[in-house]
Amino acid sequence: LFISFEGGEGVGKSTQVRRLAARLQAAGHEVVVTREPGGSPGAEAIRNLVLNGSADRWSPVTETLLMYASRRDHIERTLRPALARGAMVLCDRYADSTRAYQGAAGGADPGLISALEAFILEEVRPVRTLVFDLDPELGLARALGRPDAEARFESKGLDFHRRLREGFLAIARAEPGRCRIVDASGDPDAVEARVLTGLDGLFPR
Ligand code: C5P
Repeated sequence: LFISFEGGEGVGKSTQVRRLAARLQAAGHEVVVTREPGGSPGAEAIRNLVLNGSADRWSPVTETLLMYASRRDHIERTLRPALARGAMVLCDRYADSTRAYQGAAGGADPGLISALEAFILEEVRPVRTLVFDLDPELGLARALGRPDAEARFESKGLDFHRRLREGFLAIARAEPGRCRIVDASGDPDAVEARVLTGLDGLFPR
């Protein structure tokens, strides 16, 4: 069972991934928590190439290709083996982040991104995607308060983050069978309750 968590900066995905993992483990499931960009040694090496350095080190198209190289390694080394043994896989960002960051916000051609999805993902697609939605001003304020806050996205400006939010919402609206929008405002307990609502129907009661 493959669930992805998506959204802009500071929406609280990682906290909710940890909480859900603990809940599923307590219920006796094998849970694999992973992230993108990254999630395998090769993919983490590419993550460092992309995320370290100035925001304009790579063009949106080059960034798309690096994200897809990293995603393919993650699929081959981590995701496909975990799914094959029946683990529950919780992935902090996946293909929708490329559509939203490099595509909707960055300006890379959506046709290129769709073509890469069609060739590279194969059967490794989430059954459910939770799209965490938050006003980017609130999200950036949360994200910049972190000790590991990245200068990278500060330099992008609020317009970038507004396009990003709209990009994620457009994906969720276009694929209502797979996606659920999770209101990411409020405290972690309130968001967790919305996460569980967003997973309705996935687990037998
Ligand atoms: O998941 P998290 O918010 O920690 O993402 C790490 C960083 O990777 C983010 O700051 C985001 O700007 C960047 N990213 C990106 N393009 C993607 C996925 C993530 O620029 N497709």
